[in-house]
Amino acid sequence: MKRLLLIAAAVTAFAAQAQSFPGTKPITIVVPFAAGGPTDRVARDLAEAMRKPLGGATIVIENVAGAGGTIAGNKVAKANPDGHTLFLHHIGMATSPILYRKLPYSVPNDFTYLGMVNDVPMTLIGRPSLPAANYKELSAWINDNKGKINLGNAGLGAASHLCGLMFQNALKIDMTTVPYKGTAPAITDLIGGQIDLLCDQTTNTTAQIEGKKVKAFAVTTAKRLSTPALKDLPTLQESGLKGFEVTIWHGLYAPKGVPADVASKINAALKVALKDPDFIKKQEGLGAVVVSDKRVDPVEHKKFVADEIAKWDPVIKAAGVYAD
Ligand code: ASP
Repeated sequence: MKRLLLIAAAVTAFAAQAQSFPGTKPITIVVPFAAGGPTDRVARDLAEAMRKPLGGATIVIENVAGAGGTIAGNKVAKANPDGHTLFLHHIGMATSPILYRKLPYSVPNDFTYLGMVNDVPMTLIGRPSLPAANYKELSAWINDNKGKINLGNAGLGAASHLCGLMFQNALKIDMTTVPYKGTAPAITDLIGGQIDLLCDQTTNTTAQIEGKKVKAFAVTTAKRLSTPALKDLPTLQESGLKGFEVTIWHGLYAPKGVPADVASKINAALKVALKDPDFIKKQEGLGAVVVSDKRVDPVEHKKFVADEIAKWDPVIKAAGVYAD
């Protein structure tokens, strides 16, 4: 009898929680990299667009940077699944289970998938003092400076890490990689000339390219981009790196166990946010493409991540990079 009463109380508490979601406490979107970088940019724009469809809720961003996004992943996986802790992550969600031998959480099992957000191209950029004006000249400079080149990234599991890895593999040249807590601090050092090269999302690089603060050499997508500041950049494929293609995607997650009606409220708010003309305009201005409704579906989202793990597994294993 006592057990039945306890179960009934728990069910009532759960129902009340769903009804009152979002409650009075703020919703936190955990960002796995430093403030001011591309993942942070997407999360802040998204928070603004989701506020209204979530009934005016307060949405704050918490930057939990380090270890290529896996410190944040672990924190979110173990957080209270009440819908007030969300996680905005990119392709690293799919590459970290391959890269980290002892990832302390399971990507397929420890999260509630809430839907995808956008696709973002990357750009290969260099320090402003680098003596190369285009990819051809960069390629010659790289050949002349083998063993002396520094390539920044946001840690093992970051998009910049994956892109840098593919770049070194394609050239068959090893560079010294310099890990940061995000590409915001990496780009500051690139501008300052402390590192030579960086591969980063257009959501972080477009303004820097436009302002001529960095040198831009190529885009990582199969086709050239239409964003005004980026449209003259060649693709790495047309620059001679056969089959080079990487596009970064973002998805929204919560810890596993979020009540179904809370999850569907968040998913509905995400769908509204992704149709917000302001959000779309901001993303397009930074070279990003907001996903269609189909990809905001949590089942599609989970399947997409599983497919990406399968896609990147042989590429990363062939490169032989691992972390314990
Ligand atoms: N763009 C970074 C990456 O390499 C992360 C960031 O700072 O948002 O994954």
